[in-house]
Amino acid sequence: MRDNLIKLNIGEVKEIKLKDYSTYKVGGDSLMIFVNSVKSLIKLLKYLNVNSIKYKVIGNASNLIFSDSGYDGVLINLNNIKSFKKYSNYFTVFSGYNLSKFSMEVSNMGYTGMEFSVGIPGQIGGSIFMNAGCYGSSISNVLYKVKVLTEDYKIKTLYNKDLKFGYRDSIFKHSNLICLSATFKLDVGNINEIKSKIEEYRLKRFNSQPLEFPNAGSVFKNPEGLYAGKLIEDLGLKGKNVGGAYISEKHANFIVNKNNASSKDIVNLISMIKKEVKKKYNIELKCEQEIVE
Ligand SMILES: Cc1cc2nc3c(=O)[nH]c(=O)nc-3n(C[C@H](O)[C@H](O)[C@H](O)COP(=O)(O)OP(=O)(O)OC[C@H]3O[C@@H](n4cnc5c(N)ncnc54)[C@H](O)[C@@H]3O)c2cc1C
Repeated sequence: MRDNLIKLNIGEVKEIKLKDYSTYKVGGDSLMIFVNSVKSLIKLLKYLNVNSIKYKVIGNASNLIFSDSGYDGVLINLNNIKSFKKYSNYFTVFSGYNLSKFSMEVSNMGYTGMEFSVGIPGQIGGSIFMNAGCYGSSISNVLYKVKVLTEDYKIKTLYNKDLKFGYRDSIFKHSNLICLSATFKLDVGNINEIKSKIEEYRLKRFNSQPLEFPNAGSVFKNPEGLYAGKLIEDLGLKGKNVGGAYISEKHANFIVNKNNASSKDIVNLISMIKKEVKKKYNIELKCEQEIVE
């Protein structure tokens, strides 16, 4: 398959170890294509669909649990298509752009609204898919519109209201749309206030999250009116492990890869937590992270 993909001449084709691409540092082998343009992406998708080859567009894989046995299809990486345009207070970026970098750049120009997202290690596309958020805000609060690629290879513009945003939810989770680029609408702010907000959030993150170990952020969504981390902590589960995967001592809604964990260790630890929470509180925790196999 690799040779056929190379022949398409649409970008770099690599045989990779998923471990090297996921923030959890788990996963077996896969093919990854770094497409070099939207035209190439369309050419690739047509080829994959005609040949019934499975695929997935990924961002920074900071919300994914790749399987130990790898991915027997093609992972599509949009990292090599990068652009950043400013028109008045509208900022358009391509999906492969790093969210934190974008947020720092617009913040440094004196625009407010993106401060919350400095420190979220995703790309723009993945973060819109997830409606990533924290500290009282989320992507849906600042996103104006997106360009998407539809299943029939058409490029369409969708506005915020069309994207069915919810808590860690968007239309992308329930469709095969690919997010190509995004336009954010930001307000001019006070640069000192923007900087101090960023510093406040950076410190909060540093003090509350186990950033010293590989992880993929919060494991579970918070049930309405409750905190998943508190439920897990109250069960005395902090520090419990399956193989090399541990429930963080610092934040009970984080699983950390402390000791060469396999993806199976992480998945089994997730099941164990769900079981305990269900038994004690009769609550079904919903996983925020996605298993890719
Ligand atoms: C230390 C740490 C802290 C974190 N803190 C937060 C936080 O505060 N708030 C928060 O919400 N999350 C947080 N996360 C989780 C994660 O960073 C976010 O969910 C992030 O937005 C995911 O972006 P990504 O590019 O890594 O997406 P990926 O994990 O690569 O992909 C996520 C999903 O998006 C899909 N996708 C990716 N790109 C596209 C595209 N262009 N078009 C269509 N679908 C696409 C993928 O197929 C996949 O289903 C944290 C993670 C870590 C490791």
